[in-house]
Amino acid sequence: MKTIILSKSQIYTGDLILVNAHYPVHSHSIEGFSIVDAKYPDVRMKRNAVNALQCIFDKIGCTDQIVAVSGHRSLAEQVEIYNGSMRDNGRSFTEKYVALPNHSEHHTGLAIDLGLKQEVIDFIRPEFPYDGICNKFRKTAPYYGFVERYQSDKEDITGIAHEPWHFRYVGHPHSEVMDKEHLSFEEYIEYIRNFTYNKEHLRISGNAGKEIEIFFVPCHTERVEITIPEHSIYQVSGNNVDGFIVTILR
Ligand SMILES: [Zn+2]
Repeated sequence: MKTIILSKSQIYTGDLILVNAHYPVHSHSIEGFSIVDAKYPDVRMKRNAVNALQCIFDKIGCTDQIVAVSGHRSLAEQVEIYNGSMRDNGRSFTEKYVALPNHSEHHTGLAIDLGLKQEVIDFIRPEFPYDGICNKFRKTAPYYGFVERYQSDKEDITGIAHEPWHFRYVGHPHSEVMDKEHLSFEEYIEYIRNFTYNKEHLRISGNAGKEIEIFFVPCHTERVEITIPEHSIYQVSGNNVDGFIVTILR
């Protein structure tokens, strides 16, 4: 068996960090971002998210039809967007559609707003309909690690109004589980708590007959130690709340 030591500060990093009105981002990293599309050099995301997005674009052949509207945002950019929207659109619109600075998923570099290509694109609410190429993207996304983050029937849970254009990278297979079980990210973080490290783990079948194991490791001290099978491929992400989600490929 192999021992892994996880320190408390790692709770706030990884592909599965939950960022919402209750849980702010903890670090404003400005490194490790890549350009999503050479035509829009201002739109950047974390490298692994860009790679996954490229796979979806290649798979559905949509490069000329879907536009990357907004990716990673710094704290200063979110402040500007928030204040600008308050000024132009008023408080009720802004509170519905624009996250408070420090509480936007866009700070993580794991979220992207996409729009159907047309002459004028609304920066805050781009059009991304439930048909044609946009819906093809939406249906394909969970197989590559992305989910539609703010769905209409989850508004009470996410605290954000329906945003058909906003996609979040959480990594595969988490995206596929969320999609199949119709769970918002908030609900998924809760769901995974049922599969604690020292209890039964969530087991799902992956590609080529491989088994994927997922479990939650709570962290109430400065560091926790876990053991996993030797030579297994694994991934650890903080949940940005109180622990880690471990994914093992067997
Ligand atoms: Zn967004």
